Amino acid sequence: MKKSERYKIIILVFLLLALPFIMSSPKAISESFKPLLNDGPNITILNYHKVDNMKIALSVSPEEFEQQMSYLKSEGYTTISPKDLMDFMEFDKELPDKPLLITFDDGYVDNYLNAYPVMKKYGFTGTIFIVTDFISSDERFLTWDQVKELKENGFYIGSHTMQHIPMTDVNDEILRNELLGSAAALDYHLGKDDYFIAYPTGAYNSHVEKIVKECGYRAAFTIQYGNVNKASNPYALERIPIFKSDKTFRSFCLRVNLTSFFQRMGLIRS
Ligand SMILES: [Zn+2]
Repeated sequence: MKKSERYKIIILVFLLLALPFIMSSPKAISESFKPLLNDGPNITILNYHKVDNMKIALSVSPEEFEQQMSYLKSEGYTTISPKDLMDFMEFDKELPDKPLLITFDDGYVDNYLNAYPVMKKYGFTGTIFIVTDFISSDERFLTWDQVKELKENGFYIGSHTMQHIPMTDVNDEILRNELLGSAAALDYHLGKDDYFIAYPTGAYNSHVEKIVKECGYRAAFTIQYGNVNKASNPYALERIPIFKSDKTFRSFCLRVNLTSFFQRMGLIRS
């Protein structure tokens, strides 16, 4: 058995022994693993879709969302924008302690109605990746007025393309059109800003990364599970997906607190 494998097994045994303690208190999780998480800044990027009462995995209920925001506040997290993240990665800009990006994909209207007031209450801002053709044209999605208000209140609005087409499925002409067209819509409605994108359905490859970069985007977010640090590929940034489940809050706390640890142990793909 290789040394690294033996190490992983020791850690797993330790985790199994610690499980009763972990399950007893979500708050205790971060306390117990703090020494392991502290070597170098790690940025937690949460990925939500909907905040409402639909009975689907992509919908976190408003009550659950409030509980999660309250937990993050009590744990001392400070929200940053994608621009702060890239300024840190590219220019060593200082980040606050426990930097956190709260991202939403697709631009659902419930982000404005249900998530925004709660985040405001806890002093958090977020990042919403919108599908620009859906805005103000389908009642399930945000309007440009709502998007504008969110931006004026510290939210960052990014691209999720014009049509939510998986980017690995289309030719370069369509790909560039989706990238440049959504960027132009953001410029037109919200004023010029740095461009960031979340890949629709998470689909990307190195060719897509190259075109995204050529089209002037500073970075791109995936749905790959993990935390981000200085060494991360800016065009393949990991996030922590937050889904509804029977044990949403428990799973939320575990994901927020243990992702870096598991990543470092090589227990999840990064
Ligand atoms: Zn999407």
